[in-house]
Amino acid sequence: MAKTSELLDAHALRKRLERLQRVLEANRRISATLQPEELMRAIVRAAAEVTDSEQGAIARYDPETETLRLEIAPWLTHTRRSAISLPLDNNPMGQAYRSLWPVLGEAQPELEARNLLAVPLVVDGAALGVLCAVNKRENEFDKEDVLVMEHLAAQAAIALENAEMMHQARQGYTTLAELDKMRNDFIAITSHELRIPLGLVLGHASYLKEILDDGEARQQSETIEKAALRLKQIVEDLSKIELAQSGTAVLRTQSYDLSAQLHSLLDMHTAPANEAGIQLSSQIPEHAVYITADPNKLFVAVDHLLKNAISFTNAGGLVQLSLLEHENWVEIQVADSGIGIPAQDLPRVFDRFFQVEDHMTRRHGGMGLGLTITRTLVELQGGMVSAESIEGKGSRFSIRLPRQGWGASAE
Ligand code: ADP
Repeated sequence: MAKTSELLDAHALRKRLERLQRVLEANRRISATLQPEELMRAIVRAAAEVTDSEQGAIARYDPETETLRLEIAPWLTHTRRSAISLPLDNNPMGQAYRSLWPVLGEAQPELEARNLLAVPLVVDGAALGVLCAVNKRENEFDKEDVLVMEHLAAQAAIALENAEMMHQARQGYTTLAELDKMRNDFIAITSHELRIPLGLVLGHASYLKEILDDGEARQQSETIEKAALRLKQIVEDLSKIELAQSGTAVLRTQSYDLSAQLHSLLDMHTAPANEAGIQLSSQIPEHAVYITADPNKLFVAVDHLLKNAISFTNAGGLVQLSLLEHENWVEIQVADSGIGIPAQDLPRVFDRFFQVEDHMTRRHGGMGLGLTITRTLVELQGGMVSAESIEGKGSRFSIRLPRQGWGASAE
């Protein structure tokens, strides 16, 4: 027959195992929660459960009052909970927070507590707050309670910090998305509102230019007209991006000969390239290369790449326009031996308003929208744009397009 002491030992062992199981179960539950408030509620429930207590609580440090405030204390009303601030000394929670050790507390009438066990929630040697088990159901808190609470608090502190970081990151993303929307709205409204006054300025400037004799006044009206035309170009660029990004751009695709289109683009850019002392060459098949695409949009995209290549290449340099044929797709390349793009800036050249040189000191015109437009117009028809560059040596921009148009893949 087993001795009474052995039976007691077995009983104690079983109770211990049950408790460990509860701690494991509590850990599992808290690591499945990512919302900070919900997580704190799960932690205080677990604290009460694993210590056989009536309640659990979490207090956090408030730098303004330099005291601990109860974040979660489910048995107190919101008003009562908010009214309580716990000093860092003369108080078991404050002492646990400061010392980073568990502290057993006697009756705390303010908290309706007969007894409590406070353990710090520590991450990287610093306390995030204090976890408490309140009102042990039978007897007093013992060593075993301290051990399980320490174990729970270690897991809870990490889970809490992760959840808070995740929450902050999500809030950051939401703010960014809101800012992006505000920026898009601003661009859309501004470009729309500028159209009418700009049309008037342009109309009147060209009327004056017509009626004035050669002289200073006529020159001035020409300057006004030029500036207004430049503004019109900017407004149109902004609208192109806005249209494409809002999904309202209309794609007018047709099957046409891309090699003929590239030849005529080449012709258009020959004179400006020569004027800048740049040799413009090509590697375009003489035969027709049929693709299904929107010719106007593709024209704008390639035209801009050629303009950039010529602008960012010094006299004596080379610019080459090539068309490479693959089975299901084609590749248009614009390569130059120009100033190149620093490696750290390359990933950003397609971003809206991005310019390598500072906008205020740069020698080239433009608003950093051209490549955004190029990418938008190409992606709209199922294609891709990429850039390679070596600073001081040159750049190569490539447009890949599916031969059969949208829906067919450009690998
Ligand atoms: P922008 O119309 O103001 O030139 P883009 O969007 O076309 O703006 O280009 C963004 C920036 O990328 C340019 O300001 C320039 O710094 C850089 N860039 C574009 N194309 C080239 C190129 N071929 N060689 C060197 N830098 C380039």
